[in-house]
Amino acid sequence: MTRVWLGVSGHSHVDPVLASLPERDGGRVAFPAGWALIEHPAQGPILFDCGYGEPARTAMRRGLRRVYRGVLGVCCPPEGDAVTLLRQRGIAPEDVRWIVISHFHPDHVGGLRAFPSARFVAHADAWRTMQRGPLARLHAQVWRELLPDDFESRLQVVGSGDFAPLGRDLASLGRGHDLFGDGHIVLVDLPGHARGQIGLAARHDDARVLLVADAFWQHAQLDSRGPLSWLARQLAMDASDDYAATLSRLRRFRDEQPDAWIIASHCARTLARWVERYPDALMRAPA
Ligand SMILES: [Zn+2]
Repeated sequence: MTRVWLGVSGHSHVDPVLASLPERDGGRVAFPAGWALIEHPAQGPILFDCGYGEPARTAMRRGLRRVYRGVLGVCCPPEGDAVTLLRQRGIAPEDVRWIVISHFHPDHVGGLRAFPSARFVAHADAWRTMQRGPLARLHAQVWRELLPDDFESRLQVVGSGDFAPLGRDLASLGRGHDLFGDGHIVLVDLPGHARGQIGLAARHDDARVLLVADAFWQHAQLDSRGPLSWLARQLAMDASDDYAATLSRLRRFRDEQPDAWIIASHCARTLARWVERYPDALMRAPA
C-alpha cells in the first residue's frame, strides 16, 4: 500500500483572461505549484515533481526569466521549498531515491537540485524538448539551469515502448508504465499541455489517486471543450493537438471511477477538498 501527501512550493498568479479560466472572481487567480510525495513500501519516499525552489528563485532574478516571473506573478519563498517541507516531516533530501518529472516547466522542476541521491524519471519526448536549441527551449519554457549538473547520468527515460495498455480501474486512461512492476506507481501518458507530459497513478490507502500535472489547470476545465487559451497555446507549442484527446480520456476515467481523486498540480479547489478529507496529508508553508 502507498500513501500520498500533496505539497505546495510557491504560487503563480495568473491572469484569468490569458488562461481562459472559467473562475473569474476578479483579479488574478492563484495557482499553487503543486507536487506530491508518495510513500512506497519498498522504495521509500518518491516525489512527483517538486515545485519551485532555490534554483528557480535565482534564475528568475535575471533577463527573460524575470519576465516569466512578472507575467505569471510568481511568489516562492524558501520556507515553502519541497526540501524544507519534507525535512519537517522527517525526510532528509538524501532519503528521496526517485523523482518522477511530469514535464520540465520551472514550477515542476525548480527545486530538483536539492535532492542529491534521487534518480529521475521522465518521458523521452519531454527530455527531447530540453535538448533542443536555446530558442526552442525559451519558447517551451524549459530552463536547463534548474537541473542538477549530473542530471543526465541520474535520468531514466521512459518512452512509448515502455507504455502498455492499462487494466482494471485504470483501463480508460489508455497506456501506462508500471514503474517498479508491482502495480503501486503507474505512469500515465498525458501529452497536450507539454510534449511527453506524464501523470502518476497511486493509492492513498484505499483511495485511487491520479496526479495529472497540467493536463488541465483547474478542475472545471476538465469539462471545457473550447479552444486552448492563449497562455496554454504558448506553453504547449507543437503538442497542443493531443490536449483534447488527453482530456477526453480523463473524463472517461472520472465517469468510470467517480470516487478517484484526479489532482491537477495547480487546482486550489482540489487541494482544499483534499485537505478537508485528509487534514494531515498536505505540506505547505504556513500562510
Ligand atoms: Zn506546465
